[in-house]
Amino acid sequence: MVDRNPYIAHLKAGYLFPEIAKRRREFASSHPGAKIISLGVGNTTEPILPHINSGLTDGARKLGTVEGYSGYQDEGLAELRKKISDVFYRGKFDIDEVFISDGAKCDIGRLQVLFGSGASIAVQDPSYPVYVDGSVLTGAAGGWKGTGYAGITYLPCTSDNNFFPDLEPIAHNSIIYFCSPNNPTGAVSDRGQLSALVKTAINKGCVIIFDAAYSEFIRDSALPKTIYEIDGADTCAIEVNSFSKPAGFTGVRLGWSVVPKAIKYSTGESVNADWSRIAGTIFNGASNIAQAGGLAALDDEGIKEIKALTDFYLGNAKLIRDALVKKGVSCIGGENSPYIWAHFPGRDSWEVFSEILEKCHVVTTPGAGFGPAGQSFIRFSAFGRRADVEEACVRLGEKL
Ligand SMILES: *Cc1c(COP(=O)(O)O)cnc(C)c1O
Repeated sequence: MVDRNPYIAHLKAGYLFPEIAKRRREFASSHPGAKIISLGVGNTTEPILPHINSGLTDGARKLGTVEGYSGYQDEGLAELRKKISDVFYRGKFDIDEVFISDGAKCDIGRLQVLFGSGASIAVQDPSYPVYVDGSVLTGAAGGWKGTGYAGITYLPCTSDNNFFPDLEPIAHNSIIYFCSPNNPTGAVSDRGQLSALVKTAINKGCVIIFDAAYSEFIRDSALPKTIYEIDGADTCAIEVNSFSKPAGFTGVRLGWSVVPKAIKYSTGESVNADWSRIAGTIFNGASNIAQAGGLAALDDEGIKEIKALTDFYLGNAKLIRDALVKKGVSCIGGENSPYIWAHFPGRDSWEVFSEILEKCHVVTTPGAGFGPAGQSFIRFSAFGRRADVEEACVRLGEKL
């Protein structure tokens, strides 16, 4: 028999979302007839809007013609890479610094190959699970020690620090995962905060992997939509982003990573050159159909549709936030972000999760599932049909 990759055993049992699904099933079977509404997962619900959708269907049709046919495009269609650089980064990056992916999560998993099992890791606590679990699989996280992994520096983000961490504990030469607008807290870092982050990375020889998957939800023009709005970020930061949330591509699968040529390893070698190599070695590119959809999404018409779709989810976020605030629950997020992070001081977050499920028949996500500092918080997601969100808000108002 073959040996199991020992790092798989280091993954913590009961991954968050399967555990939530299990509790929901148990509740449903003991309460037949209850209409359960989910404000739990970060999965999109609204149809892809017409112009972007026509990009997808035209892309598929073209593949059936000699003139329109295309095969492998390892690092992505040049036209899409150029358009991403122009639309999101004012043309700051060459097309060979923009890599098209099948999604941000997939790239976050693959990017770890660049740094290997010896890397030191720092994450915001709480955080999106793949930063930690991906580091466990490469071996960089080390073993489980009480409340966290030995090789990971957890940077608590709490109401005491306005959900922006103290950067002091970050070790020299680490990989720093940073997400803004943040999943799960909904906090959006401002220019001063991101400048401090970049300065720390430069001073300590770190690389930031900046997850900007929710950048299109930012409405306050003073808030940076990309880490590259900060001077020096192009020497120390890789940015991952995605069409999943802004264009409804969660099932289509399309994202990108920016790996600037200015980022070097300790040996002086180019991180960009290695990423290009890896893209051709263990990834053969995103779907050409999805990329045709991505091109349409970045037309003037597509950008309007992204604005309309994100406005819709932000409208849901406002309803949820208002309903909670009316009940006296203190929360952050829900503005410039589709997540609301609600505080139930002194309570266990799984216990609050169960209470909301039992009283309101609403599924949420317990904050503790995103890291130790998530204890006593609940994440509400604004991804849902409007009628469901409205009904959930009525129930929260009447029954919580
Ligand atoms: C949803 C999400 C993503 C997007 O992942 P895809 O693989 O592109 O669908 C990335 N980062 C965070 C924090 C997310 O919540």
